[in-house]
Amino acid sequence: MSEDTSLSSVANDRLVIGKTIRSLRKKSGLTLQQVADELERAVSYVSGIENGKRDVKVAELHTFARLFGVDVDSMLKPEALDSRAGLEVEWERIQNGPLYSQLGLPRLAARKTLSDDALTALIGLHAELENMHRRRAATPEEARRANTALRARMRNQGNYFAELEQLARDLHRAIGHEQGPLSQRLAAELAQQLGFTLHYVGDLPPMTRSVTDAKYMRIFLPRQAGNDPRTVLLQALAAHALGVAEITHYEDFLWHRVRINYLAGALLIDETSAVDFLAKAKDQRQLAVEDLRDHYAVTYETAAHRFTNLATQHLDIPVHFLKANSAGTVYKAYENDGVLFPSDPLGAVEGQTVCRKWSARQVFKEEDRLTPFHQYTDKPNGTYWCTSKIESTPTGTFSLSVGTPFDHVKWFRGRETTRRGASSCPDEGCCRLAPVELSHKWEGKVRSQAMMNTALLAAMPRNATPGVDEGDLLDFLEQHEPR
Ligand SMILES: [Zn+2]
Repeated sequence: MSEDTSLSSVANDRLVIGKTIRSLRKKSGLTLQQVADELERAVSYVSGIENGKRDVKVAELHTFARLFGVDVDSMLKPEALDSRAGLEVEWERIQNGPLYSQLGLPRLAARKTLSDDALTALIGLHAELENMHRRRAATPEEARRANTALRARMRNQGNYFAELEQLARDLHRAIGHEQGPLSQRLAAELAQQLGFTLHYVGDLPPMTRSVTDAKYMRIFLPRQAGNDPRTVLLQALAAHALGVAEITHYEDFLWHRVRINYLAGALLIDETSAVDFLAKAKDQRQLAVEDLRDHYAVTYETAAHRFTNLATQHLDIPVHFLKANSAGTVYKAYENDGVLFPSDPLGAVEGQTVCRKWSARQVFKEEDRLTPFHQYTDKPNGTYWCTSKIESTPTGTFSLSVGTPFDHVKWFRGRETTRRGASSCPDEGCCRLAPVELSHKWEGKVRSQAMMNTALLAAMPRNATPGVDEGDLLDFLEQHEPR
């Protein structure tokens, strides 16, 4: 239950006791007057207790118990209420709760004329209303707030997690891996070391990347696992190594996923050798994300992500990272270099549109997708240098950009680029308004249907894996249950 209801729980306890006393009194055939006489109180005093408006003193409880021929403990148990009294208490609780109060409806006393069926129906409707509110609270708005909070958290620690680096080192040690690229064979050995067998199947439930069965210690992986099959396996192992997370809010879910991805990245690119590798490149003023990618045989996205983990902590370079599709929609964003990402009024960046003049958009115009793309962009709060790369994944084609403020570009290969842009976004006049003559030409004659961005619409389901149907998942495990 929410905190709001606990505020009224004292009143509810009083009501439960009061109702219990009333029902026991009626069972024993005593009148209010008789009980009042026993307590040496007025009738109104006793009815105040029965209506939950007055606290019962311990001595009085004992008197009631004696009068009704029961013991005090049994009077304090909620089961002591008969079903009618239970309905009345529940209805009272509902009317004291925050949801009912917000509706501005009149209070409805549970008089005798209100039938049990009517009370049951009211309580049932309220429960469903509460449910709908809970589900609605977990929709895009909460997701966007959670993303914003998460990005602030990551910015504060420079996207570096010392304890996960340590955990990656421990796991490497367990398979005798010191440093350098992690082969497919070693990744499989890590699975074995952790007690898992691997199963490649063609029928993974929709929207899942892998399924871990902790009952029989099996990991199910897709037969075709995207650009780097190690990533999917290492994410499953990372999730296992990190243990079950307490997930009650969308932010917990995102935080857990960030940690899983981080650990998987740290397993693919170990900190010690990567810092060595990057420090040398910095000395030679030849820092390049693609070198990290090639050295560790990982995807560009993994390399870029890992670069942001280590750049500030070990190289004193503030950076930003951006993953966007060809329409400029942001899928992932990180910065600790002050770059201004597009954002909505809640501060959410995911789902927003990147300035057309940024390299994240400009790179899509290039026919040559092998040569690294570099660009200086004058932005409202300074000049940034960015390098962007287009990568196709099973879920689409994205541009992946890593950038840094002008003062730090001297360490990077590609700083000599002559490509320059200027952006005044979020100023509308920058790139959002179409040229006047084109607007006139097409005015009122254009329709298009936007594709849904499912990740942003995903509500927080009960099983804590947004987008995955729990029924599908359990069916899958049933079908693969060993005989
Ligand atoms: Zn712009």
